Amino acid sequence: MTTIDQTRLDRIVAEARRSAEQRNAGYRERALRMYPWICGRCTREFTRANLRELTVHHRNHNHDDNPADGSNWELLCVYCHDNEHARQLDYTGVSAGNAEDAPAAATSNPFADLKARLQKRGA
Ligand SMILES: [Zn+2]
Ligand SMILES: [Zn+2]
Repeated sequence: MTTIDQTRLDRIVAEARRSAEQRNAGYRERALRMYPWICGRCTREFTRANLRELTVHHRNHNHDDNPADGSNWELLCVYCHDNEHARQLDYTGVSAGNAEDAPAAATSNPFADLKARLQKRGA
């Protein structure tokens, strides 16, 4: 038998995805350990009390790119981070740091062809 074991394949994909998420989840903590808590643009200083307003920006705008030396990270306050991404609006079409920090959206839509199928059936 040479059929692909779909269950096994699914598990491999799921595990790969999970380990990628874990790898990326820690980048904020790592960046905060590595750099002083100062916004790279407006030089506002942060303490534990307002640290949640200090965000990690990815210089190349790829949040999957997290080199161990921190060379792709820049600490920015939420306002400067928004500005940084506003300048990128033209080609990303999405606003602000939310796009970068949000979990990756599902790329496949199981209902994408539902309407077409329903229409076909109805006609
Ligand atoms: Zn700032
Ligand atoms: Zn950013």
